[in-house]
Amino acid sequence: MGVSENARLVLEKRYLIKDADGKAIESVDGMFQRVAGAIAASDLLHDKNADVERTKKTFYDMMTNLEFLPNSPTLMNAGRPLGQLSACFVLPVEDSMDEIFEAIKQAALIHKSGGGTGFSFSRLRQKGSTVNSTGGVASGPISFMKVFNMATEAVKQGGTRRGANMGILRVDHPDILEFIDCKSNNSEINNFNISVGLTEKFMNAVESGGDYELVDPHTRKVVQKLRARDVFERIVDAAWRNGEPGIIFLDRLNRDNIVPSQGEIESTNPCGEQPLLPYESCNLGSINLTKMLKEEDGVYSFDWKKLERTAKDAVHFLDNVIDANKYPLENIDRVTKQTRKIGLGVMGWADSLLRMGIPYNSQEAVALGEKVMKFITACGREESAALAVQRGAFPLFEESILPQDTPQRNGTISTIAPTGTLSIIAGCSSGVEPVFGYVFIRNIMDGTEMVEVNPILREELEKRGLYSEGLMRRIAKEGTIAHIEELPEDLRRVFVSAHDISPEDHIRMQAAFQRGTDNAVSKTVNFRHDATREEVAEVYSLAFHLGCKGVTIYRDGSRSEQVLNIGKVN
Ligand code: ADP
Repeated sequence: MGVSENARLVLEKRYLIKDADGKAIESVDGMFQRVAGAIAASDLLHDKNADVERTKKTFYDMMTNLEFLPNSPTLMNAGRPLGQLSACFVLPVEDSMDEIFEAIKQAALIHKSGGGTGFSFSRLRQKGSTVNSTGGVASGPISFMKVFNMATEAVKQGGTRRGANMGILRVDHPDILEFIDCKSNNSEINNFNISVGLTEKFMNAVESGGDYELVDPHTRKVVQKLRARDVFERIVDAAWRNGEPGIIFLDRLNRDNIVPSQGEIESTNPCGEQPLLPYESCNLGSINLTKMLKEEDGVYSFDWKKLERTAKDAVHFLDNVIDANKYPLENIDRVTKQTRKIGLGVMGWADSLLRMGIPYNSQEAVALGEKVMKFITACGREESAALAVQRGAFPLFEESILPQDTPQRNGTISTIAPTGTLSIIAGCSSGVEPVFGYVFIRNIMDGTEMVEVNPILREELEKRGLYSEGLMRRIAKEGTIAHIEELPEDLRRVFVSAHDISPEDHIRMQAAFQRGTDNAVSKTVNFRHDATREEVAEVYSLAFHLGCKGVTIYRDGSRSEQVLNIGKVN
């Protein structure tokens, strides 16, 4: 199998079955056999004569060729006693002590199994309002978020994942100002990403310069009015300072809510790509686009036939995951199976553009991104319709807003995940993000250094006789090749990194993929350290007008414990 040394290390540490001493007792190949077998077996639920061996082989091949990978919990837990296979959950938080602590317990069970949880805290009454049963005073959503955070910290997930949460508060909640600043110290509420849920009413008030109303969720009374622009500027300022909060556009999430009869969508999963109803869960999977290219005389382009086949097999795979899954709560089992949402996405997009010689920040790349994603979703829909013929449509199909002429097995097909670990396993750029840095220098234990070079850049430089270790060190130091004048112009134009790309171009790419995606797109818009608050505000407006469902930004150097550094030799 062609996984890199890095990938092998990640897999050994967290994915392979281990004995009591923590030694892996499964090979990488064994893991893929286990997963392929467990997921293919779901075919038998619908057809007792199904050729499971054949399906297993299809799934095994597509994973070992690194063409498609399911989300981490599926790789970790399929075919094992725990059997929890989904990455994304949303839990309701209702306005009573009982229900708040019930949600904490439920989240703990999900974290233990490797899933991430999203919550809206918008139903909790505001800080300082009265509590009828005790005559006391409510402490408000932010104080409870801290309890959720502590519980997450304590679970720490024996050897797999650490636990991740999304916390959302509507912009019209009376405690919104406290929420906006609740992570100004990054060590607080550290197991949460937070986002403000923006309404269209609010955005219109920002644009017109008007006021908007804050409503107590408990009494439903208007308690205060604020100038929308002031609040918007507070959000921008906080995000400019350290990347939090993000924003999500609630009305837009609900326009794509396929079953409005079941209630509103109030939250997403931790990284924002998967809006869900309370108790819904979703399993994700990603196609490695670098494996969907064909080469003719050194020129690369998409192999649409292969992409179609892969998307269809992936939908078959993900639908099977829903049935193979062991859900942490009965309610989640029931609600998930009513809509049968799946989230097929992509990784390796930036690497594919490099191969094709198309700059990420070009109109051509934006148009192609939209085309690729629409194609994947359309192929997925075809497969979901074929599965519906054999297995039946999802139970709420008739009350859904989907066109009623072709029954569908799955309420949604596509989602673009960050692919944080999957992209390491597959050895490609993550999700639809641009390449962050082309060269990294790592210190290894005995004091020697290892130079890690993006494989496509290395190949291109070697082909042109330009590769040298000195040049690699320079690229690592400068963080970008755009300014290295000795390099040919065409290379500098194509091999752009996250910081060579303007924030507007980041958003244009996000919007392009959003147009082809049922759910949402995980994307971080990178700003240079010297970017201004106005630039951040402009990007938010652009995202709103281009139809994005949310925005996450990050200004370089704005957090002390930044994970990836440009120009810094680790
Ligand atoms: P992976 O590459 O490991 O499959 P992604 O980076 O694509 O995961 O993240 C997808 C989703 O998985 C996230 O939005 C979140 O819901 C969940 N997730 C990611 N990391 C964690 C974690 N450490 N703990 C719990 N859930 C997580």
